[in-house]
Amino acid sequence: MTLEEKQSREGLLDAALSCVHCGLCYHTLPSLTESERFSDTCPAGLYFGFDAYYSPGRNELARAILRGEYPLKESKAIEEIIFSCTTCGACEATCRYVNDTNVLPVHVTEGIRALLVEQGVGPLPSQKKFAESVKKVDNPYGESSERNMWIEDQSRRDKLESDVFYFVGCTTGYRYQDIAKATTTVLETTDTDYSVSSKEICCGSPLIRTGQLEDVERLVRENVKVIQESGAKTVIFSCAGCYRTVVKDWPRILGEDLPFETIHVTQFMAEKMDSGELELNEPMDMKIAYHDPCHLGRHMFPNAVYDEPRKVIDSIPGAKRITLDREMDATLCCGSGGGVKAGLPEYAEYIAKLRVSEARNKGADTFVTACPFCVRGLEDGAKKEASESGDKPLEVIELTELVRRAIGGK
Ligand code: SF4
Ligand code: SF4
Repeated sequence: MTLEEKQSREGLLDAALSCVHCGLCYHTLPSLTESERFSDTCPAGLYFGFDAYYSPGRNELARAILRGEYPLKESKAIEEIIFSCTTCGACEATCRYVNDTNVLPVHVTEGIRALLVEQGVGPLPSQKKFAESVKKVDNPYGESSERNMWIEDQSRRDKLESDVFYFVGCTTGYRYQDIAKATTTVLETTDTDYSVSSKEICCGSPLIRTGQLEDVERLVRENVKVIQESGAKTVIFSCAGCYRTVVKDWPRILGEDLPFETIHVTQFMAEKMDSGELELNEPMDMKIAYHDPCHLGRHMFPNAVYDEPRKVIDSIPGAKRITLDREMDATLCCGSGGGVKAGLPEYAEYIAKLRVSEARNKGADTFVTACPFCVRGLEDGAKKEASESGDKPLEVIELTELVRRAIGGK
């Protein structure tokens, strides 16, 4: 089946009907986890408890909606079910191990969301603000300020004409500027000439995940134009969500291959360590657990980025990496994906707290990840976990920031 066919109503129905309701995706496979205690991997099912919130239930609901069997006017009940999926892809990954099928739960959820939004059902109220803000100021945070204010050297703020373009993203550019600064430190340490542009706009991820597609093609085409004008051959990302969207969604939206190569900063750092251009010399006495962002792992199938961030952590002198019960394909989402952080914040915080507890139980003193959005979710989870346990919150840090410390930066 071609991509266009998969996107169609028939394609969605075909994917929804491919689910055989075996229920294996309620938990990860025993071969992928070390403990039964940490075998749950569906955040929505874990929090809400009812079958409808797990993948087979949502696939069944999708089938009924696509066949016009569900009265959309009575939609409040389904709104929460459809929009509570973090689109983490854990069910899809498990399904791939056990069924050689066309089951694509994330694709079905996103497709049904778009269909519902088209018919005036959903998204959740705070998710609607993403689309309103993007329409007004081209970012989901409603920020009207220039997006590269974090760059201290003004001459670099709009430096164009380089082989490498750093796509900063809205969350990093407006909310986690230290990650942007750390990324440019890595680029500069490895003598990599790069461009950034204040004309870069939202990649479209929050809109695609919540079914609000009206402005998406415009965002993609404007961004591609800005990148092409810079002459870049490679685009580097520090946000896993932007990376997934550009690599997987942009070609589908453009109807053609991207006119540049793409690389996530974790891959870039691992490559530069191999070539000897990046050395981590500063000893750090830390017990580190690594959280796999869904958008860097399962969403990138069959090219999941699992080894590179681990390789970087393992190269920090003195740091000990602790293996979690749920890792890689079996990882538990941070709880923030798919618009859930904005739409259903208490549920997002609950899932993040569980993830942090898992790291703490394994003896970690630091939780490292490779996505600003996961950092945001896990930081809130760490505060919640600490408020309940009475302990100091677990330190949550993005990998590039850790690398900046490991090369002697502050
Ligand atoms: S999504 Fe896959 S694993 Fe889950 S119930 Fe359907 S067929 Fe089974
Ligand atoms: S994508 Fe994640 S949250 Fe959604 S049904 Fe699958 S496992 Fe559950």
